[in-house]
Order: sequence, then C-alpha cells, then structure tokens
Amino acid sequence: MGFTMFDAIIIGSGPAGSHAAYLLAKMRYKVLLIEGRKTPKQSINCSGIIGLEAFREFDLWDVPVLNRINKFKFISPSGKPFIYQSDSDLAFVVDRSGFDYYLTSRAISAGASFLDESWVRKILIDENEVNVCIQSKGRSYKLRAKVGVIAAGYSSPLVEMVGLKSPLRFIEAAQADVYGSGFDHTDVYLGNRIAPGSFAWLIPLGNERGLVGLTTEKNSVQHLQFLLNKLKAEKNISRVTNLQHSVIPLGLIPKAFTRRILVVGEAAGQVKTTTNGGIYYGMIGAEIAAQVLKKAIQKNRFDEEILHQYDQLWRAKLGPEIQLGLKLREMYSHLSDSKIDMLFSIVSMDGLLPLIKKNLNFDWHKGLILSLITKPLIRRLFGIKLQNVDCTQES
Ligand SMILES: Cc1cc2nc3c(=O)[nH]c(=O)nc-3n(C[C@H](O)[C@H](O)[C@H](O)COP(=O)(O)OP(=O)(O)OC[C@H]3O[C@@H](n4cnc5c(N)ncnc54)[C@H](O)[C@@H]3O)c2cc1C
Repeated sequence: MGFTMFDAIIIGSGPAGSHAAYLLAKMRYKVLLIEGRKTPKQSINCSGIIGLEAFREFDLWDVPVLNRINKFKFISPSGKPFIYQSDSDLAFVVDRSGFDYYLTSRAISAGASFLDESWVRKILIDENEVNVCIQSKGRSYKLRAKVGVIAAGYSSPLVEMVGLKSPLRFIEAAQADVYGSGFDHTDVYLGNRIAPGSFAWLIPLGNERGLVGLTTEKNSVQHLQFLLNKLKAEKNISRVTNLQHSVIPLGLIPKAFTRRILVVGEAAGQVKTTTNGGIYYGMIGAEIAAQVLKKAIQKNRFDEEILHQYDQLWRAKLGPEIQLGLKLREMYSHLSDSKIDMLFSIVSMDGLLPLIKKNLNFDWHKGLILSLITKPLIRRLFGIKLQNVDCTQES
C-alpha cells in the first residue's frame, strides 16, 4: 500500500468521511479511507436522529432503525407541555455505531480501501502529492495521494497542521443511556436550570431503553446529572450507563480548503446550529466535496483555484441556515425561564400551530424561524427588530 498512489485519501470514517469515500469509489477512483478507531466503533456520543430527507437523498433505507419520530413533547421550565405531532414520520433514530459501520461497509463495497486502527499523525503537502503519515498497530507508514480529505471531526489537529483553522465556537454535549419504562415519545426540555441557552432530550429507543442528553455552553455533565435526578424522580428509570460528553462546533470554519486538501463534516462546522445535528449536513458536505474532486481529478488540478469551488458551493447551501441558527441561539440564550414559559403560551395559541406545521422542515429551519418572527408577540419576546435578522452576514 505504501507505494500505491491513491486518487484520494479520506481521514475519518464518520458519516462525512465514509460518504465521501463511497461517492468517490463509485466514480471508480482509487480511494483510501482511514479510521483511527477499531471498526465497528464501540459507542459514539450521538443520539442518531436523522431526518427523512437524508434517508431519501442518500438512500439509507437499509440502515437498521431503532425508532421513528413523528411526535415531540416540549416541556417548559415550569413543566408546561407543548406537543407537536406530525401526520407522518419526521425522522428516524439509528444506532450510531451501526450507522457508521453501514456507511463504511458501503464505501468498501463500492471499491474503497479501508484501514482501521490507523491514526493519521501528519499530513505533508508538496507540488505533486499529499503524504499521509499513519501509526497503525505500533508501526508507522507513509501513504500517498493526489488529494486528502480531512473528515476527522471537530477540532482535529490535522486542520491546523495543513494551515487552516477550526471553527472557534463550540457547545458542550453530554448524554447517557437510560433503562426503564414509560419512554413513550421524544421529550425536549427547555429552561436555564436544565440546559441554559439550549435544550435537553429524552429519546426512546424501544425495548425499555432511551437516551437522555443535552447541549449547553458549559458544565454539561453537571447539568445532565441534574436532569437525570429529576427524571429518576418523575419516570421509571432503573439504570443509567455510558455517560459521555464531547463538544460540537457552532459556526463555520473560516476556510475549508487549501492546496490538495478539503475539510468536510464537523471538522468544517457543517452542523445545524439550531439542533446541533451534524450527520445530514456533513453528508451534504461530502456530496459537494466528491463533485468538486471529480472535476479536480479529471483535470489533474489540485490548486486552490479549483478546490475553492467546494467552499463556495457548501457555504451557499448550508451557510445561511448555520448563520441564522447562530443568531436564534444567541437571542434564545438571553431568555429568562419566565420568558421561555411565555414562549410556550404564545406558540400554543390558536393560529401559530398551523403556521408551524406549514413551515416546519426537520433539517432546514430558516423558513420556520423567518415565518415565526413575522409575529409581533414573538418579535417582542426575543427583542427582535426585523433588520436584525440578516442571515447572509458571516459572524
Ligand atoms: C451527544 C450528541 C448527540 C448528537 N446527536 C445527533 C443526532 O441525533 N443527529 C445528528 O445529525 N447529529 C448528532 N450529533 C452530532 C454528530 O454526532 C456529528 O455532527 C457527526 O458525528 C459528525 O460527523 P463527521 O463524520 O463529520 O465526524 P465524526 O463522526 O466525528 O467522525 C470522525 C471520525 O474520524 C476519526 N478520526 C479522528 N481523528 C483521526 C485521525 N487523526 N486519524 C484517523 N481517524 C481519525 C474519528 O475516530 C471518527 O471516527 C450529536 C453529537 C453529540 C455529541
């Protein structure tokens, strides 16, 4: 393998990396996908919620599904419920380790080579190729490719190694597996005691299992412990295991390419800033990367001028959503618990539910946000002047 010249080496076999490898292998390019962890990966800190649109767009129908979501119960700081029920499925819950394994296997079946338990330690770029130095089972190797794709998750040191910068802002996320009964539908908890500036969740997985988690700016583990204690008192939770915490980027990478390198997925900030879901946006990033790399390989050109198209295309598609989500998050973080309770009263009002039903899209939130802020009560609550919401400006 050391002498082989790959068309592309992809670093990281999460959804973004595996999907990019699959698409390039399907185009019959010589692709190597490298993963540091042993595959299948044991336990990934993720809830595994993926919208219907991603299933359709990326043909994910063979992925084993743990549960379907068509109903959310939102719970206000004072315990007021608001139930949103859709006539059809909005999203699926997948076992995240199984999902990654499925995507990696699909890339291998399409012709990609794959190395697991192989950590990329160094990337060297010169006029003619990219050299990727890996450490695998106690040995070091140098691998060669025309182009490299960094899909190694948030704050990978590889991004800085190639002279780029990771997104600066992030949010903490903590989650645990729970066992018990009475987990009927997906609960979403709001309020400054539980998840300041963000939200918490209880997601049923079936078979008396669930996931309890939250995102928040800091102290996510302490907030999760508080929520778990509250839920133990309210629900029939017999066991809590596998408490994990990590960070998720909030906002775009300043630049996602350099000569012979693209950065894809969470490493590039391709994550929804409203719900912090990154699977779908990362796979969209991979799709755009594969299209641009196809052109680059055909022309045998890997300079910034050609790879720049990747940055333009994905920013045009995902940028406005990510920027508007950030603005919403910023405004929401200033709401007191009583104002969040007031928001529940406003949203439960006659007239708003049809508007929500009409504009809600599981993966694209701009339409719903912009329609809600046409309502004076919502604007007043958030202190919004309409000209504040210019989602085209990068922050
Ligand atoms: C608690 C929590 C819940 C979440 N829930 C959801 C959800 O329900 N839906 C959703 O869409 N998103 C969710 N997310 C976000 C989602 O998990 C990420 O956005 C998504 O995993 C990003 O995919 P990726 O392929 O970019 O990176 P990753 O999934 O992080 O994959 C990167 C891969 O690269 C490997 N790697 C890293 N460095 C190296 C190296 N040097 N050499 C070789 N390999 C390397 C890693 O081992 C990893 O396998 C959640 C996140 C958290 C923390």
